[in-house]
Amino acid sequence: MSNVTRRSFFGLGLKVSVVGAAALGLGACAKQPAASSTACADASNLNASEQSLRASFKYVEQSADPAKVCGGCEFFTADASGSACGDCKILTGAANSLGYCTSWAARAAALPA
Ligand code: SF4
Repeated sequence: MSNVTRRSFFGLGLKVSVVGAAALGLGACAKQPAASSTACADASNLNASEQSLRASFKYVEQSADPAKVCGGCEFFTADASGSACGDCKILTGAANSLGYCTSWAARAAALPA
């Protein structure tokens, strides 16, 4: 094998390694949820009735008003593990603590004991 052939061989190997590493890196990123993803309920896992209910109440995963979020709503039950995803009594399913729908009602203040 001449020097030129060996250089070409190793040069090609380096290119293949760089491309392979990039492909692996992209593959690893593809498995990560997007940083902006806050979906608590995957729409593809909801039946037609559940989707219709969310649509009729105009549920969104991210409220436009920080003062009106599911986490402050009377109908929201926070997740015990601290996840942003809790449950909504109105939607009868998952809701994002930062979400909102038109049935939002301020959580009642705890009564003094
Ligand atoms: S009723 Fe609406 S605002 Fe209240 S927790 Fe459920 S989805 Fe969120």
